[in-house]
Amino acid sequence: MTKNSSKEYYDLICVGGGIMSANLALLAKMIKPDLNILILERLEAVAKESSAAWNNAGTGHSALCELNYCPEEDDGSVSISKALEICKQFEISKQFWSYLVDKEFIKDPGSFIKKVPHHSWVTGIKNADYLEKRYEAFKEHYMFNTISFTREISKMKEWFPLIMREREEGEVMAASRIERGTEVNYGTLTQQLYKILENEYNTPVKFYQDVEDLDPLENGNWTAIVKDLKSKEKYQIEADHIFIGAGGGALLLLETVEIEEKDGFGGFPVSGEWLVCKNEELISQHNGKVYSKAGPDDPPMSTPHLDTRYIDGKRQLMFGPFAGFSPKFLKEGSNLDLLKSVTFKNIPSMLGAFWHNLPLTKYLVHQVTMSFDDRMDDLRKFVKDAKNEDWEIQVAGQRVQTIKRDEFEGGKLEFGTQIVSGADGKITCLLGASPGASTATKVMLDVLEKAFPELIDKDENLSRLQEIIPYYKKEITKGFFENELKRTTDILNLK
Ligand SMILES: Cc1cc2nc3c(=O)[nH]c(=O)nc-3n(C[C@H](O)[C@H](O)[C@H](O)COP(=O)(O)OP(=O)(O)OC[C@H]3O[C@@H](n4cnc5c(N)ncnc54)[C@H](O)[C@@H]3O)c2cc1C
Repeated sequence: MTKNSSKEYYDLICVGGGIMSANLALLAKMIKPDLNILILERLEAVAKESSAAWNNAGTGHSALCELNYCPEEDDGSVSISKALEICKQFEISKQFWSYLVDKEFIKDPGSFIKKVPHHSWVTGIKNADYLEKRYEAFKEHYMFNTISFTREISKMKEWFPLIMREREEGEVMAASRIERGTEVNYGTLTQQLYKILENEYNTPVKFYQDVEDLDPLENGNWTAIVKDLKSKEKYQIEADHIFIGAGGGALLLLETVEIEEKDGFGGFPVSGEWLVCKNEELISQHNGKVYSKAGPDDPPMSTPHLDTRYIDGKRQLMFGPFAGFSPKFLKEGSNLDLLKSVTFKNIPSMLGAFWHNLPLTKYLVHQVTMSFDDRMDDLRKFVKDAKNEDWEIQVAGQRVQTIKRDEFEGGKLEFGTQIVSGADGKITCLLGASPGASTATKVMLDVLEKAFPELIDKDENLSRLQEIIPYYKKEITKGFFENELKRTTDILNLK
């Protein structure tokens, strides 16, 4: 569509070809197929940054095993309210995927999601007691009441034999298990979402298009200044709405936007690495995701885990993450990214966040200086007899740890995802990467509400969204949850 002779015009431009833009564009098209949407990606294909399979851990984050969602309160009780929220958000993603499979837009759910049991595993009496308290709280709630708990070495040997090799009876440890956990190949999923956009909704992604700047127009719309990386030409496109779904690149682009809501945001890049197993025999001996506990001062993203993965058409085994340092905000970013992100407006937040998070800095420095042998020693806390020759390093995705202005501390680290938007919702941006891809559908519904309230308010669109996502704006009861869990388990073939 061309609104005036000099510029192309769109209802919505999504910057970035990752899982977030895919969810937003597809949901928007499903409720209003005649929306004119453009997706711009600077690389040669979709899902090449954080959404790529090896760049993330592929965990369907539903709080079944990640202990950071269940903090221990001052009175010694374990809070599960955050876990309930994460679990519900992942079920929303599963409902969306089930709809796509049901309509045969996605032919084989096994191409991106598999049932892999989720375990939490801890050592030492204090941690074992904590895990038992979490189990007691979980088993009372219908979202988690299928949990099992044990302190018995023999039971753990059944659940994750590789970790229990060479363990002595009498060692103090405990574990919990929820069978219905999942392993998700977000890379394959993202590619399929973009195929649906192209084939069913005539919305292909434009590649090698780098969005350099976003400027407001007098009529309330926005202009994207884009560089075609092949022809090196620059051009402008006008849009009613813009979504910055640029992953690690989002902060730099947000800083070009003239809205006061962006002020005070900063970011610090943290790169990641996995140890990946090369020994087929070991790979076949482990079936599960086993999450342990992060150190007392370590950030939640540092929680070590040993995971079964399904990537490149085969079962894999992966341990990590290890943090590293690179000044780039994207794997395919520039070494100047960090420097370019520092502005007069975010210096106080950045300094405040560092000053109040010295243990985090210490953790990062320690991680960066770890050798391959040091990393193998960390793995040996899980797999006691792990041999160096069976494992190799694989570089993971680049995270940008969000820093937000804080009245008291100057700046604070934000570990969740954060939607930043202008007052009229015409420009929206997603910062942060946790819980990440698992909750993309819920987060993009939030973006849709901010950007297109007039669409969401229409009864027929609400009904359409509830047909796609039965939980959307509904109260979840035990019966509703159990029925939906059964339905999505059947459709996604997760029995
Ligand atoms: C180490 C690690 C482990 C993780 N583990 C999990 C997990 O187990 N489970 C989970 O659910 N989530 C996990 N995540 C988070 C998850 O990967 C991310 O939240 C999710 O992939 C982000 O998707 P996105 O679309 O926002 O970004 P991305 O997938 O990074 O896509 C952004 C795209 O924007 C493009 N782009 C950037 N700037 C521009 C520009 N200026 N112009 C045009 N294009 C641009 C990039 O090239 C890229 O293709 C993990 C992340 C990391 C790094």
